Amino acid sequence: MHVLRFTRAHLRPSISLLQSSSSFSSYSSSAAAVEAERAIRDGPRNDWTRPEIKSIYDSPLLDLLFHGAQVHRHAHNFREVQQCTLLSVKTGGCSEDCSYCPQSSRYSTGVKAQRLMNKDAVLQAAQKAKEAGSTRFCMGAAWRDTVGRKTNFNQILEYVKEIRDMGMEVCCTLGMLEKQQAIELKKAGLTAYNHNLDTSREYYPNIITTRSYDERLETLQFVREAGINVCSGGIIGLGEAEEDRVGLLHTLATLPTHPESVPINALLAVKGTPLEDQKPVEIWEMVRMIATARIVMPKAMVRLSAGRVRFSVPEQALCFLAGANSIFTGDKLLTTPNNDFNADQQMFKLLGLIPKAPSFDEDEAKIFEAENREQAVSGSG
Ligand code: SF4
Repeated sequence: MHVLRFTRAHLRPSISLLQSSSSFSSYSSSAAAVEAERAIRDGPRNDWTRPEIKSIYDSPLLDLLFHGAQVHRHAHNFREVQQCTLLSVKTGGCSEDCSYCPQSSRYSTGVKAQRLMNKDAVLQAAQKAKEAGSTRFCMGAAWRDTVGRKTNFNQILEYVKEIRDMGMEVCCTLGMLEKQQAIELKKAGLTAYNHNLDTSREYYPNIITTRSYDERLETLQFVREAGINVCSGGIIGLGEAEEDRVGLLHTLATLPTHPESVPINALLAVKGTPLEDQKPVEIWEMVRMIATARIVMPKAMVRLSAGRVRFSVPEQALCFLAGANSIFTGDKLLTTPNNDFNADQQMFKLLGLIPKAPSFDEDEAKIFEAENREQAVSGSG
Protein backbone atom coordinates (compact mmCIF):
# COMPACT_ATOMS: atom_id res chain seq x y z
CA MET A 1 0.00 0.00 0.00
CA HIS A 2 1.36 3.40 -0.92
CA VAL A 3 1.08 5.45 2.26
CA LEU A 4 3.37 8.34 2.99
CA ARG A 5 4.96 8.11 6.41
CA PHE A 6 6.33 10.76 8.74
CA THR A 7 9.97 10.68 7.69
CA ARG A 8 12.66 13.31 7.73
CA ALA A 9 12.59 13.34 3.93
CA HIS A 10 8.94 14.28 3.97
CA LEU A 11 9.44 16.66 6.82
CA ARG A 12 12.03 18.89 5.20
CA PRO A 13 9.96 20.58 2.51
CA SER A 14 7.25 21.41 4.98
CA ILE A 15 9.51 22.86 7.60
CA SER A 16 11.37 24.92 5.06
CA LEU A 17 8.05 26.09 3.71
CA LEU A 18 6.99 27.12 7.16
CA GLN A 19 10.34 28.77 7.83
CA SER A 20 10.30 30.63 4.56
CA SER A 21 6.91 31.96 5.46
CA SER A 22 7.89 32.99 8.96
CA SER A 23 8.37 36.58 7.89
CA PHE A 24 4.60 36.74 7.41
CA SER A 25 3.88 36.96 11.10
CA SER A 26 0.10 36.62 11.04
CA TYR A 27 0.45 33.57 8.80
CA SER A 28 3.05 31.72 10.82
CA SER A 29 1.61 32.47 14.22
CA SER A 30 -1.73 30.72 13.86
CA ALA A 31 -2.25 27.71 16.08
CA ALA A 32 -3.02 25.69 12.95
CA ALA A 33 0.45 26.51 11.58
CA VAL A 34 2.25 25.76 14.83
CA GLU A 35 0.42 22.52 15.55
CA ALA A 36 0.62 21.31 11.95
CA GLU A 37 4.38 21.81 12.04
CA ARG A 38 4.53 19.92 15.31
CA ALA A 39 2.36 17.09 13.93
CA ILE A 40 4.64 16.78 10.91
CA ARG A 41 7.75 16.84 13.08
CA ASP A 42 6.64 14.66 15.99
CA GLY A 43 3.73 12.62 14.66
CA PRO A 44 0.43 12.02 16.45
CA ARG A 45 -0.04 12.95 20.10
CA ASN A 46 -2.91 12.28 22.46
CA ASP A 47 -2.19 14.76 25.24
CA TRP A 48 -4.09 17.60 23.61
CA THR A 49 -5.73 20.17 25.82
CA ARG A 50 -9.10 21.49 24.83
CA PRO A 51 -7.82 25.08 24.51
CA GLU A 52 -5.11 23.85 22.13
CA ILE A 53 -7.66 22.23 19.86
CA LYS A 54 -9.92 25.26 20.15
CA SER A 55 -7.05 27.49 18.99
CA ILE A 56 -6.49 25.31 15.94
CA TYR A 57 -10.21 25.26 15.22
CA ASP A 58 -10.38 29.06 15.54
CA SER A 59 -7.44 29.72 13.21
CA PRO A 60 -8.18 31.84 10.13
CA LEU A 61 -10.08 29.50 7.83
CA LEU A 62 -7.75 29.52 4.83
CA ASP A 63 -4.76 29.10 7.12
CA LEU A 64 -6.44 26.13 8.80
CA LEU A 65 -7.27 24.65 5.40
CA PHE A 66 -3.70 25.11 4.19
CA HIS A 67 -2.18 23.47 7.25
CA GLY A 68 -4.73 20.68 7.27
CA ALA A 69 -3.63 20.01 3.70
CA GLN A 70 0.03 20.03 4.72
CA VAL A 71 -0.45 17.49 7.48
CA HIS A 72 -2.60 15.40 5.16
CA ARG A 73 0.14 15.28 2.54
CA HIS A 74 2.70 14.16 5.06
CA ALA A 75 0.62 11.43 6.62
CA HIS A 76 -1.23 10.12 3.57
CA ASN A 77 -1.14 9.85 -0.16
CA PHE A 78 -3.17 12.98 -0.85
CA ARG A 79 -4.65 11.56 -4.07
CA GLU A 80 -6.10 8.49 -2.40
CA VAL A 81 -9.71 8.54 -1.27
CA GLN A 82 -11.29 5.41 0.09
CA GLN A 83 -14.74 4.54 -1.17
CA CYS A 84 -16.89 2.82 1.42
CA THR A 85 -20.40 1.47 1.10
CA LEU A 86 -22.76 1.52 4.03
CA LEU A 87 -25.72 -0.82 3.91
CA SER A 88 -28.54 -0.82 6.42
CA VAL A 89 -28.87 -4.55 7.07
CA LYS A 90 -31.54 -4.06 9.71
CA THR A 91 -33.58 -0.91 9.31
CA GLY A 92 -35.85 1.01 11.67
CA GLY A 93 -37.70 0.14 14.84
CA CYS A 94 -34.82 1.19 17.10
CA SER A 95 -35.59 1.71 20.78
CA GLU A 96 -33.08 4.57 21.15
CA ASP A 97 -34.00 8.25 21.02
CA CYS A 98 -31.11 9.75 18.99
CA SER A 99 -32.83 12.95 17.96
CA TYR A 100 -31.28 13.09 14.48
CA CYS A 101 -32.22 9.55 13.52
CA PRO A 102 -35.18 8.57 11.34
CA GLN A 103 -34.79 4.94 12.45
CA SER A 104 -35.85 5.56 16.03
CA SER A 105 -39.25 4.01 16.74
CA ARG A 106 -40.08 7.11 18.79
CA TYR A 107 -40.42 9.39 15.76
CA SER A 108 -42.83 9.35 12.82
CA THR A 109 -40.51 9.49 9.88
CA GLY A 110 -42.04 6.94 7.54
CA VAL A 111 -39.13 4.52 8.00
CA LYS A 112 -40.60 1.03 8.37
CA ALA A 113 -39.04 -1.46 10.75
CA GLN A 114 -37.52 -4.41 8.92
CA ARG A 115 -35.91 -7.65 9.97
CA LEU A 116 -32.24 -8.46 9.47
CA MET A 117 -31.53 -8.88 5.75
CA ASN A 118 -30.75 -12.40 4.65
CA LYS A 119 -27.31 -13.55 3.69
CA ASP A 120 -27.83 -13.65 -0.07
CA ALA A 121 -29.11 -10.09 -0.20
CA VAL A 122 -26.25 -8.77 1.93
CA LEU A 123 -23.57 -10.62 -0.04
CA GLN A 124 -25.05 -9.45 -3.32
CA ALA A 125 -24.93 -5.86 -2.10
CA ALA A 126 -21.32 -6.32 -1.00
CA GLN A 127 -20.37 -7.77 -4.38
CA LYS A 128 -22.05 -4.89 -6.18
CA ALA A 129 -20.24 -2.40 -3.94
CA LYS A 130 -16.92 -4.11 -4.65
CA GLU A 131 -17.50 -4.04 -8.39
CA ALA A 132 -18.29 -0.33 -8.08
CA GLY A 133 -14.91 0.32 -6.45
CA SER A 134 -15.72 0.19 -2.74
CA THR A 135 -13.00 -1.36 -0.63
CA ARG A 136 -14.84 -1.18 2.67
CA PHE A 137 -18.31 -2.58 3.24
CA CYS A 138 -20.10 -1.36 6.34
CA MET A 139 -23.20 -3.02 7.76
CA GLY A 140 -25.46 -0.94 9.95
CA ALA A 141 -28.19 -2.32 12.19
CA ALA A 142 -30.69 -0.14 14.05
CA TRP A 143 -30.18 -1.73 17.45
CA ARG A 144 -29.46 -0.30 20.88
CA ASP A 145 -27.00 -3.15 21.37
CA THR A 146 -26.47 -6.75 20.36
CA VAL A 147 -27.15 -8.24 23.79
CA GLY A 148 -29.89 -10.89 23.63
CA ARG A 149 -29.71 -11.10 19.83
CA LYS A 150 -27.69 -14.28 19.60
CA THR A 151 -29.25 -15.56 16.37
CA ASN A 152 -28.92 -12.24 14.59
CA PHE A 153 -25.44 -11.68 15.95
CA ASN A 154 -24.31 -15.09 14.68
CA GLN A 155 -25.74 -14.22 11.26
CA ILE A 156 -23.74 -10.98 11.29
CA LEU A 157 -20.59 -12.95 12.15
CA GLU A 158 -21.21 -15.10 9.10
CA TYR A 159 -21.71 -12.05 6.87
CA VAL A 160 -18.47 -10.56 8.18
CA LYS A 161 -16.51 -13.73 7.33
CA GLU A 162 -17.97 -13.97 3.84
CA ILE A 163 -17.41 -10.32 2.95
CA ARG A 164 -13.88 -10.41 4.33
CA ASP A 165 -13.26 -13.42 2.08
CA MET A 166 -14.35 -11.26 -0.88
CA GLY A 167 -11.26 -9.12 -0.24
CA MET A 168 -13.02 -6.15 1.29
CA GLU A 169 -12.50 -4.43 4.60
CA VAL A 170 -15.57 -5.05 6.73
CA CYS A 171 -17.05 -2.64 9.24
CA CYS A 172 -20.15 -2.96 11.40
CA THR A 173 -22.22 -0.50 13.35
CA LEU A 174 -24.62 -2.48 15.54
CA GLY A 175 -24.96 -0.33 18.63
CA MET A 176 -23.27 -1.04 21.93
CA LEU A 177 -21.11 -4.14 22.20
CA GLU A 178 -20.01 -6.30 25.08
CA LYS A 179 -16.41 -7.37 25.42
CA GLN A 180 -17.06 -10.95 24.29
CA GLN A 181 -18.96 -9.81 21.21
CA ALA A 182 -16.07 -7.60 20.16
CA ILE A 183 -13.77 -10.60 20.46
CA GLU A 184 -16.11 -12.71 18.31
CA LEU A 185 -16.30 -10.01 15.65
CA LYS A 186 -12.53 -9.86 15.58
CA LYS A 187 -12.31 -13.61 15.13
CA ALA A 188 -14.77 -13.38 12.24
CA GLY A 189 -12.39 -10.96 10.52
CA LEU A 190 -14.00 -7.59 11.24
CA THR A 191 -11.72 -4.73 10.19
CA ALA A 192 -13.41 -1.88 12.02
CA TYR A 193 -16.34 -1.12 14.28
CA ASN A 194 -18.19 2.17 14.02
CA HIS A 195 -19.63 3.76 17.11
CA ASN A 196 -19.86 7.54 16.91
CA LEU A 197 -19.64 9.80 19.92
CA ASP A 198 -21.88 12.18 17.97
CA THR A 199 -21.00 15.39 19.85
CA SER A 200 -19.33 16.70 23.00
CA ARG A 201 -19.94 15.10 26.37
CA GLU A 202 -21.69 18.31 27.50
CA TYR A 203 -24.09 18.55 24.58
CA TYR A 204 -24.74 14.82 24.30
CA PRO A 205 -27.73 14.71 26.74
CA ASN A 206 -29.55 17.15 24.43
CA ILE A 207 -29.32 14.60 21.63
CA ILE A 208 -29.62 11.17 23.27
CA THR A 209 -30.98 10.19 26.66
CA THR A 210 -31.23 6.42 26.33
CA ARG A 211 -27.54 5.64 26.65
CA SER A 212 -24.66 7.55 28.16
CA TYR A 213 -21.48 8.99 26.74
CA ASP A 214 -19.52 6.66 28.99
CA GLU A 215 -21.35 3.64 27.61
CA ARG A 216 -20.27 4.75 24.15
CA LEU A 217 -16.68 5.09 25.29
CA GLU A 218 -16.84 1.65 26.87
CA THR A 219 -17.86 0.10 23.54
CA LEU A 220 -14.93 1.85 21.87
CA GLN A 221 -12.65 0.44 24.52
CA PHE A 222 -13.91 -3.13 23.98
CA VAL A 223 -13.42 -2.70 20.23
CA ARG A 224 -9.88 -1.44 20.71
CA GLU A 225 -8.99 -4.19 23.19
CA ALA A 226 -10.29 -6.84 20.79
CA GLY A 227 -7.83 -5.58 18.16
CA ILE A 228 -10.49 -4.15 15.86
CA ASN A 229 -9.92 -0.72 14.32
CA VAL A 230 -12.00 2.01 15.87
CA CYS A 231 -14.24 4.15 13.68
CA SER A 232 -15.73 7.02 15.68
CA GLY A 233 -16.67 10.55 14.84
CA GLY A 234 -19.67 12.77 15.07
CA ILE A 235 -22.31 14.91 13.50
CA ILE A 236 -22.34 18.66 13.20
CA GLY A 237 -25.48 20.73 12.77
CA LEU A 238 -27.31 19.28 15.79
CA GLY A 239 -27.71 22.74 17.30
CA GLU A 240 -24.43 22.44 19.17
CA ALA A 241 -22.01 25.30 19.79
CA GLU A 242 -18.58 25.39 18.18
CA GLU A 243 -17.20 24.60 21.62
CA ASP A 244 -19.03 21.25 21.38
CA ARG A 245 -17.38 20.47 18.07
CA VAL A 246 -14.04 21.15 19.72
CA GLY A 247 -15.12 18.98 22.67
CA LEU A 248 -15.92 16.08 20.36
CA LEU A 249 -12.53 16.33 18.64
CA HIS A 250 -10.81 16.65 22.00
CA THR A 251 -12.38 13.42 23.30
CA LEU A 252 -11.41 11.54 20.14
CA ALA A 253 -7.90 12.97 19.96
CA THR A 254 -7.15 12.15 23.61
CA LEU A 255 -8.21 8.51 23.47
CA PRO A 256 -5.21 6.30 24.34
CA THR A 257 -4.98 5.49 20.61
CA HIS A 258 -6.60 7.70 18.00
CA PRO A 259 -9.46 6.12 16.08
CA GLU A 260 -8.21 4.78 12.75
CA SER A 261 -11.28 6.34 11.21
CA VAL A 262 -13.12 9.56 12.06
CA PRO A 263 -16.39 10.17 10.18
CA ILE A 264 -17.45 13.80 10.05
CA ASN A 265 -21.16 13.97 9.30
CA ALA A 266 -23.28 17.01 8.51
CA LEU A 267 -26.82 16.58 9.75
CA LEU A 268 -29.36 15.80 7.07
CA ALA A 269 -32.45 16.94 8.93
CA VAL A 270 -35.23 14.39 8.48
CA LYS A 271 -38.88 15.34 8.79
CA GLY A 272 -40.44 13.80 11.85
CA THR A 273 -37.27 13.84 13.96
CA PRO A 274 -36.83 16.40 16.75
CA LEU A 275 -34.08 18.04 14.67
CA GLU A 276 -36.17 18.40 11.51
CA ASP A 277 -35.89 22.21 11.53
CA GLN A 278 -32.14 22.48 11.98
CA LYS A 279 -30.54 24.70 9.40
CA PRO A 280 -28.14 22.98 7.00
CA VAL A 281 -24.44 22.94 7.81
CA GLU A 282 -22.35 25.25 5.66
CA ILE A 283 -19.34 24.01 3.79
CA TRP A 284 -17.05 26.28 5.82
CA GLU A 285 -18.11 24.52 9.00
CA MET A 286 -17.22 21.16 7.43
CA VAL A 287 -13.85 22.45 6.22
CA ARG A 288 -13.04 23.79 9.67
CA MET A 289 -14.00 20.52 11.32
CA ILE A 290 -12.14 18.31 8.82
CA ALA A 291 -8.93 20.36 8.85
CA THR A 292 -8.88 20.44 12.66
CA ALA A 293 -9.49 16.68 12.81
CA ARG A 294 -6.67 16.18 10.31
CA ILE A 295 -4.18 18.22 12.35
CA VAL A 296 -5.04 16.67 15.73
CA MET A 297 -5.34 13.07 14.43
CA PRO A 298 -2.92 13.07 11.49
CA LYS A 299 -3.01 9.38 10.67
CA ALA A 300 -6.76 8.77 10.94
CA MET A 301 -8.90 8.29 7.88
CA VAL A 302 -11.14 11.35 8.00
CA ARG A 303 -14.42 10.41 6.36
CA LEU A 304 -16.60 12.96 4.63
CA SER A 305 -19.79 11.17 5.49
CA ALA A 306 -23.51 12.02 5.79
CA GLY A 307 -24.54 15.34 4.32
CA ARG A 308 -22.09 15.12 1.42
CA VAL A 309 -25.07 14.99 -0.93
CA ARG A 310 -25.67 18.67 -0.25
CA PHE A 311 -22.18 19.73 -1.28
CA SER A 312 -21.09 20.59 -4.82
CA VAL A 313 -17.92 19.16 -6.36
CA PRO A 314 -15.92 22.35 -5.63
CA GLU A 315 -17.15 22.22 -2.03
CA GLN A 316 -16.18 18.56 -1.70
CA ALA A 317 -12.80 19.41 -3.23
CA LEU A 318 -12.20 21.81 -0.34
CA CYS A 319 -12.97 18.99 2.09
CA PHE A 320 -10.45 16.69 0.37
CA LEU A 321 -7.90 19.48 0.42
CA ALA A 322 -8.53 20.05 4.14
CA GLY A 323 -7.75 16.41 4.85
CA ALA A 324 -10.78 14.21 4.17
CA ASN A 325 -9.74 10.97 2.51
CA SER A 326 -12.81 8.81 2.43
CA ILE A 327 -16.37 8.99 1.20
CA PHE A 328 -19.41 6.76 1.24
CA THR A 329 -20.63 5.80 -2.18
CA GLY A 330 -23.93 4.19 -3.12
CA ASP A 331 -27.50 5.42 -3.48
CA LYS A 332 -28.20 5.62 0.22
CA LEU A 333 -26.45 6.19 3.50
CA LEU A 334 -28.54 3.91 5.70
CA THR A 335 -31.90 5.56 5.08
CA THR A 336 -30.89 9.00 3.79
CA PRO A 337 -30.01 9.90 0.18
CA ASN A 338 -26.40 9.86 -0.97
CA ASN A 339 -24.48 11.19 -3.96
CA ASP A 340 -25.03 9.79 -7.43
CA PHE A 341 -22.50 7.05 -8.19
CA ASN A 342 -21.60 8.31 -11.68
CA ALA A 343 -21.22 11.86 -10.42
CA ASP A 344 -18.76 10.56 -7.82
CA GLN A 345 -16.73 8.77 -10.50
CA GLN A 346 -16.61 11.96 -12.58
CA MET A 347 -15.53 13.88 -9.51
CA PHE A 348 -12.65 11.44 -8.96
CA LYS A 349 -11.52 11.95 -12.55
CA LEU A 350 -11.87 15.70 -12.41
CA LEU A 351 -9.95 16.07 -9.14
CA GLY A 352 -7.34 13.44 -10.00
CA LEU A 353 -8.35 11.29 -7.05
CA ILE A 354 -7.64 7.59 -6.95
CA PRO A 355 -9.52 4.91 -5.01
CA LYS A 356 -7.68 3.76 -1.92
CA ALA A 357 -6.90 0.07 -1.68
CA PRO A 358 -8.12 -2.04 1.23
CA SER A 359 -5.48 -1.93 3.92
CA PHE A 360 -5.19 -5.47 5.26
CA ASP A 361 -3.15 -7.19 2.59
CA GLU A 362 -0.03 -5.52 1.25
CA ASP A 363 0.21 -7.51 -1.99
CA GLU A 364 -3.45 -7.33 -2.82
CA ALA A 365 -3.44 -3.62 -2.02
CA LYS A 366 -0.46 -2.97 -4.31
CA ILE A 367 -2.16 -4.66 -7.26
CA PHE A 368 -5.36 -2.74 -6.62
CA GLU A 369 -3.53 0.55 -6.34
CA ALA A 370 -1.50 0.02 -9.53
CA GLU A 371 -4.63 -0.81 -11.51
CA ASN A 372 -6.53 2.18 -10.24
CA ARG A 373 -3.68 4.64 -10.60
CA GLU A 374 -3.44 3.71 -14.27
CA GLN A 375 -7.14 4.30 -14.70
CA ALA A 376 -7.09 7.60 -12.83
CA VAL A 377 -4.12 8.95 -14.75
CA SER A 378 -5.70 8.13 -18.07
CA GLY A 379 -8.99 9.61 -16.89
CA SER A 380 -7.75 12.81 -15.28
CA GLY A 381 -5.91 14.04 -18.35
S1 SF4 B 1 -28.64 6.30 15.60
FE1 SF4 B 1 -28.61 4.07 15.85
S2 SF4 B 1 -29.05 3.78 18.02
FE2 SF4 B 1 -29.71 5.87 17.54
S3 SF4 B 1 -31.89 5.68 17.02
FE3 SF4 B 1 -30.72 5.55 15.11
S4 SF4 B 1 -30.43 3.36 14.78
FE4 SF4 B 1 -31.00 3.62 16.93
